[in-house]
Amino acid sequence: MLLDGKKLKNEILDELKNKIKRCDRKPGFVVIQIGEDSASTIYVRQKEKMADYLGMHFEHVKLSNDVSEDEVLKIIEQYNQNNEIDWILVQLPIPNHLNELVIQNKISPDKDVDGLTHFNAGCLMHGKDALFPCTPLGIVDLLENYKIKIKGKHVVIVGRSNLVGKPLMHMMLARDATVTICHSKTEHLETYTRMADILVVAIGKKAFIKAEMVKERATVIDVGINRDGNQLYGDVDFDDVCHKVHYITPVPGGIGQMTVAELAKNVYHSYIKRCK
Ligand code: NDP
Repeated sequence: MLLDGKKLKNEILDELKNKIKRCDRKPGFVVIQIGEDSASTIYVRQKEKMADYLGMHFEHVKLSNDVSEDEVLKIIEQYNQNNEIDWILVQLPIPNHLNELVIQNKISPDKDVDGLTHFNAGCLMHGKDALFPCTPLGIVDLLENYKIKIKGKHVVIVGRSNLVGKPLMHMMLARDATVTICHSKTEHLETYTRMADILVVAIGKKAFIKAEMVKERATVIDVGINRDGNQLYGDVDFDDVCHKVHYITPVPGGIGQMTVAELAKNVYHSYIKRCK
């Protein structure tokens, strides 16, 4: 059975749109883009479209490739102080001369809707309420929406990035799953993937997971987005795997859609907290 991220995203966005209509001021967010990365330009445009649809206030700050770190930090601080802005995102990747950790951590934690500051990552680890990364939130939301049991299940996550694998590990532990996390140095990867009740793959390698690597009747969550020509592909070989498993997410139309929905939810929650 297909886990339809697009359908759930549309439901979430419609609900938020109605709530935002009733707000005294528009929730606001700013995307800071540094340099000319064509994929980033597409992602920024998607966020702008989402903001338009929801009736949010959107600002796009475009900085040149050679901007200094001090200048970027100064701009972030201005937005930290700006009461019209609930969310600040620095679109990755950024040029090599800039320190990603320093820049990320300059964002005020209550405006860090991507949940990447050390403060928010620490809250996730300690089970405290805060803003958490949108892709793993989207995975949990989709599973829960389809009433797929997490408690007591073996969740195997392939990929250990700060954006997906590591935060998802904490979210799954908090829901009483048994979690195994694999990465590029894992030996005999298929031994682990075959044990998964829920297999999550976030590695950025087109059609890497084949049918013989998954357990019969498993749930497979494909996070990967791999562009080949004009087409998008996941990290899972969908046609090979879909006959064997119980649930599977498509690419596109799965976790990418859920990530957008969770971004919108995070902006709204951040706004509500600031209004209190
Ligand atoms: P990163 O490049 O930050 O991390 C990739 C991870 O995959 C690393 O932990 C790496 O291991 C591991 N890995 C790479 N190759 C293998 C392999 N052959 N076997 C096992 N593990 C491997 O990527 P991200 O987490 O940012 O993104 C992963 C994918 O998800 C990408 O395709 C990205 O586009 C997509 N993505 C999709 C989103 C969505 O909204 N759907 C959101 C975010 C990402 P090691 O740590 O050892 O290097």
